[in-house]
Amino acid sequence: MNIRFVPAWDNGHREMGGHWIQEGKPAILNNTLSSLMQSDHVIRVHNNGTVTDDVSGVWAPELDVTLDAEGQMTDITCADMIADAKRSGWDVVQRWRGNLSPLGPVQDAGTSVGGDLAHHIMTMPGFWVVTSPSVTVDGCREDGCRNNPAVYNVDPSSDLESCESCAWIEEIGLDGWVILHREADGE
Ligand SMILES: [Zn+2]
Repeated sequence: MNIRFVPAWDNGHREMGGHWIQEGKPAILNNTLSSLMQSDHVIRVHNNGTVTDDVSGVWAPELDVTLDAEGQMTDITCADMIADAKRSGWDVVQRWRGNLSPLGPVQDAGTSVGGDLAHHIMTMPGFWVVTSPSVTVDGCREDGCRNNPAVYNVDPSSDLESCESCAWIEEIGLDGWVILHREADGE
């Protein structure tokens, strides 16, 4: 079924802030674009601005990023992730601040798919998906940590564990998500 989303704010539901809601449906969170775009759930935006979500044959790319021992993503990691996505046919959308900006591709964890980002999605036909890259840590300096290059370079096969700090970073994962677009053929 084709769904149309409209900005809640402009349709008398200011309590919903920047959310976009399904036209003709009650203005509740379950009917928002953000709710539809759960992690790894691919949707398709058609040329007429409607949305379908029973997409078959197109999957979210599996992305992973390497964080440093402070839990930060390096520029190189960032570029690698974008390149990986590209190889799977997807373009990573840069963090949205009204315009495409150089703030990086990771959207803050608390951000929902609404406002200008939702407008951008609704006016750009093709496939769209939100995903959370998996995380590995590199460059730790703790003795005996598997993420310490000086350790694993000596014996890559040893089954060392992450130190407490790295384990914490791995558990939290990337504090945010990325959104990707992919061209679609036809309508
Ligand atoms: Zn460590």
